[in-house]
Amino acid sequence: MEVSAHTAAALEEATRFDELGLAPPILAALTDLGYQTPTPIQKQAIPLVLAGRDLMAQAQTGTGKTAAFALPLLQKMLPHANTSASPARHPVRGLVLAPTRELALQVHEAIVTYKKNLPLRSTCVFGGVDMKPQELDLRGGVEILVATPGRLLDHAGSKVVHLSQVQFLVLDEADRMLDMGFLPDLKRILNLLPAQRQTLLFSATFDDSIVGLAKSFLQNPLKVEVARRNTAAETVEQVVHKVKEDDKMDALIHVVKAREITQALVFTRTKIAADKLGRRLQKRGIPTGIIHGDKAQIERLAALDGFKQGTVQLLAATDIAARGIDIVELPCVFNYELPYSPEDYVHRIGRTGRAGASGLAVSLVSHEEERLLGGIERFIKRDLTPAPLPEITVAAAPRAEVPAPAPTAAAAAPIQRSIRRREAPVCALLMPPAPRPPEPVAPEA
Ligand code: AMP
Repeated sequence: MEVSAHTAAALEEATRFDELGLAPPILAALTDLGYQTPTPIQKQAIPLVLAGRDLMAQAQTGTGKTAAFALPLLQKMLPHANTSASPARHPVRGLVLAPTRELALQVHEAIVTYKKNLPLRSTCVFGGVDMKPQELDLRGGVEILVATPGRLLDHAGSKVVHLSQVQFLVLDEADRMLDMGFLPDLKRILNLLPAQRQTLLFSATFDDSIVGLAKSFLQNPLKVEVARRNTAAETVEQVVHKVKEDDKMDALIHVVKAREITQALVFTRTKIAADKLGRRLQKRGIPTGIIHGDKAQIERLAALDGFKQGTVQLLAATDIAARGIDIVELPCVFNYELPYSPEDYVHRIGRTGRAGASGLAVSLVSHEEERLLGGIERFIKRDLTPAPLPEITVAAAPRAEVPAPAPTAAAAAPIQRSIRRREAPVCALLMPPAPRPPEPVAPEA
């Protein structure tokens, strides 16, 4: 399942989109978006998809993987593009399955921008919201459908959508779909699709379960990859601080100030922990959003939107909810709690350092998590030696118009604790502003 040396060499030479065989209306959309050169995954995948091959592509979010499948699919659907009002002239020809609502929305948004000069219709369906508007779109006819598996099956079950004319299937973040237990749904969906179709599987990691999935879903696939197996992006600076569990909140705030971090995703393992962390940060006066699977869709979108607009500084997130979040130039990711699975660590830190930009991943590791850290080090084949907390310089102190209120003794205590550990001088100027009284110490759940 390897790309032949000949093909790979030819693809490496293609440095412009117009060399990849895409039609002028698609190229014009890319020019408008400011895309100048194809990313490595796009260089490799686009010609192979255009040639009709099934693909197993190893690429994380941030590598340009969405365009790697969306552009050639649009190109292949061009002969069917039409402006007829008849739903029958717009059967679903391209189906993209994504594990989460956020990823589905994001992929769909990208497709909408890429197809803006083409009379091809698309929509996005996912669970947790009213089915009616989705039904209206589907009944009107769409050539491209982006969906989460469960909601797609709901619509297919009520015969709102027919999948018998699907020519192209994309499984995006397939590893995550397996992790989330979507295999039975995937099999059911597959039974609704024609056997004769082109299938593209994208996954950040390729363990045995993914290879198994590929073998049963794909026909003679070619494998393309843009990063070494299980490696974290080279552009991400990975920092580990050993911190007592109870001191993590202070350490987080300390690092944010010391490194002047304007925005960061802060990962927890569980929804409860994300909620709790988010609330505690809010009480400390830090604009924080919370995003996890139990939040109503509208709340998740609002949090994400605030983050994208810059009104939310920190976004407390679980692994699943954060998957596929695409924020341009996200400078930093925190592992407030290390994930149980080393693969999730790679996914998490892949949220930063995109498209060659440098990124920072800070892990706050308690004594209890040292085994997890060892597992991660083995997985990424790199030592993550703990570093002392960074010094806060005067330049990094908050530049308030009016002097920040002096912190209360209770608020100052934890910060002083962490500074003492580093044996740095205690300086009132360096204290975080305390616009709200400190929260009462809540018992840890
Ligand atoms: P993705 O990996 O598909 O989530 O894409 C990550 C980000 O890269 C998105 O914001 C895309 O709009 C952007 N992007 C994708 N391809 C290119 C390209 N060839 N040049 C510049 N930006 C790109």
